[in-house]
Amino acid sequence: MDFGLPNFFGFAYSEDQLLVLRLLKESKKRGASKVILMSAPSFVVDFDYKDFCPLMKGLGFDKVTELTFGAKIVNSCYRSYIKENKEKQEKFIASVCPSTVELVKNKYPYLKRFLLPFDSPMVAMSKVLKKNYPKHKIVFVSPCSAKKVEAKKSFYNGKQLIDAVITFSELKQILAKEKPKKLSVSHKFDSFYNDYTKIYPLSGGLGATLNKKGILSESEMVSCDGFNQIQRVFEKKLDKVFFDVLFCNGGCIGGNGISSKLPIVLRKQKVLSYRNLSKKENMDGNQGLSKYFRGINFSKKFD
Ligand code: SF4
Repeated sequence: MDFGLPNFFGFAYSEDQLLVLRLLKESKKRGASKVILMSAPSFVVDFDYKDFCPLMKGLGFDKVTELTFGAKIVNSCYRSYIKENKEKQEKFIASVCPSTVELVKNKYPYLKRFLLPFDSPMVAMSKVLKKNYPKHKIVFVSPCSAKKVEAKKSFYNGKQLIDAVITFSELKQILAKEKPKKLSVSHKFDSFYNDYTKIYPLSGGLGATLNKKGILSESEMVSCDGFNQIQRVFEKKLDKVFFDVLFCNGGCIGGNGISSKLPIVLRKQKVLSYRNLSKKENMDGNQGLSKYFRGINFSKKFD
């Protein structure tokens, strides 16, 4: 593979792509930090599930994981917080989507105090990875360019938490140019968990996986996606208690870093099929145990 300078007469890598390639190149040196690829579960819109890990390991990543365990942790934080505060707080707004958080801060500042004060799944999962693989560098691949900004502002024990973020489209460009060979390794992620939060990137996925029984009724919740719908909800549905809101049409499967041109309904189908398929796979003992995240603080302020 040629990890050299971009070809200025044809396709040129972005700074983030070059950073990822540099991290991978350096990881080959003796004693250097290895690199973990953390993927958003919407990767199945752009990549084949069974090829993904062998291909990423062929590209040079030491471990390949998903952020679904981070989503499970965020759900658990939300559940406890809503349960504790429902008597004294009238609303709760999911803060998993950085573009929605910015929209609230800038257009609806009077709603800011309702943003749930916890990390996004990307940040929560990165903290889990840092705890369990402290020497590894972390690269996040996502459907979302807004995650690049969020990652730059995310720290753990005073240090930058995530080393680089690229979109699925950027990863596809890297694969097209570098042409890595698939390694003969398992197609399974180096994960801590593999279950229901795989539908997080779908509109309503958070609400559907929150395990809200005894905490929130269906009529107290609203799930929506896309700028226009969010505006309508924030301006006309303020009688609701829990707001599960994603900025892109269809949720993260409509993010600007996805390269697929498939309609949203077919992208959604791919995520659901993947969730169903992976439910059947065993986890080799890694079942979402709390030992992986014990002692980590997942709270966050939106000042
Ligand atoms: S909804 Fe869009 S902006 Fe929000 S996290 Fe998902 S991809 Fe990013």
